[in-house]
Amino acid sequence: MSVRSISILGATGSVGASTLDLIRRNRDQWRVVALTANCSAGELGRLAREFGAEIAVVSDESCLPQLREALSGSAVEAAGGVAALCEAAERPVDLTIAAIVGCAGLAPTMAAIETGGTIALANKEALVSAGDVMTAAVARNGATLLPVDSEHNAIFQCLQGNDIAEVRWVTLTASGGPFRTWNADQLAAATPKQAVAHPNWDMGAKISVDSATMMNKGLEFIEAHHLFPVGLDRLRIVVHPQSVIHSMVEYRDGSTLAQLGPSDMRVPIASCLAWPKRMETPCEPLDLAGIGELSFFAPDENLFPATRLARDAVNAGGAAPAVLNAANEIAVAAFLAGKIGFTKIAVLVDQALNQAIPPAPATLEDVLTVDGQARRQASELLESC
Ligand code: NDP
Repeated sequence: MSVRSISILGATGSVGASTLDLIRRNRDQWRVVALTANCSAGELGRLAREFGAEIAVVSDESCLPQLREALSGSAVEAAGGVAALCEAAERPVDLTIAAIVGCAGLAPTMAAIETGGTIALANKEALVSAGDVMTAAVARNGATLLPVDSEHNAIFQCLQGNDIAEVRWVTLTASGGPFRTWNADQLAAATPKQAVAHPNWDMGAKISVDSATMMNKGLEFIEAHHLFPVGLDRLRIVVHPQSVIHSMVEYRDGSTLAQLGPSDMRVPIASCLAWPKRMETPCEPLDLAGIGELSFFAPDENLFPATRLARDAVNAGGAAPAVLNAANEIAVAAFLAGKIGFTKIAVLVDQALNQAIPPAPATLEDVLTVDGQARRQASELLESC
């Protein structure tokens, strides 16, 4: 197998770590070009040395001195700031892993797309905010987007060799998160520690809270709409607490194809690393007899309104999905900082969507402007909360 080059945007995070674990097991097959972080300079420096990266970048420029110190005496280039992050993302590679959390990942992901390369996208917030701006850039530059999110990776696999025009339903499965069986009083008192303790997946803090509110599934609904244009009325969500079926596609003849696997992000990441082939992973084989039962429930949108808010936002169009995402990022950060209660996250997003929504952004700059405005408005709403 020939050596392929890779850059990992968000190398110090949960998806970054799972990706590097797979690369570590296949070191002779990969040449690491850029590794990036926000400010985890020590960890980034360690990884860049281990993998012999060409360049390591911290997005927060104030962390550059720490990164320089961590890399002193090595051949790895060190850089800091958002412009340096985008420049690193523009270095030509065979595969870019877009695994920064939040809309902060949008500009570097778009920079990678502009090179016309192959991008394995984990950073769902970027696609939710930019929507058509990102998919148009993919088409214009002849780039390829591979979905890392386990649900979208499952759908992508279930669509292979089939005609998307023959799809009756795309069904996203949702674990329901740690609070699936909680009542309204319990939810109102939920703590950040409880919210990040996901029953099936080990993930970063922000996506774990999103899973607990079900906003993760709302964002994924919008993500699926952009990745698999079957029409919004053919996308649906079902709660499946075991997270064994990662998503399904039903065709017009009544056949449903599903992708199953362990709750380990190394499976969908491996499918992107090896695409269009397959590779070995160290993941446990699926033990269906051990699991015993697979169950399914309709989502409870009274207790968990986030999926409804996301559906309303994408149906409303314009910049509503970008506003939804920005308000959610502000609200989740406030919850994790202990400033607001768990159920206030959806309340704040709802209030943000009830304000005047700007028209659909046409360029990356428009998206970033909408995102900035929506963040300021959400922060004001937070103050009055
Ligand atoms: P983590 O919080 O674990 O990691 C986030 C990464 O992004 C870190 O490298 C972090 O650097 C970097 N980062 C954070 N803020 C910024 C910023 N402002 N500018 C540049 N870089 C930044 O997140 P996850 O790995 O859990 O998630 C990453 C993305 O993948 C998210 O969009 C998530 O929704 C998606 N995803 C994650 C899954 C998972 O299993 N974790 C599953 C499916 C999708 P630093 O360490 O310095 O903070």
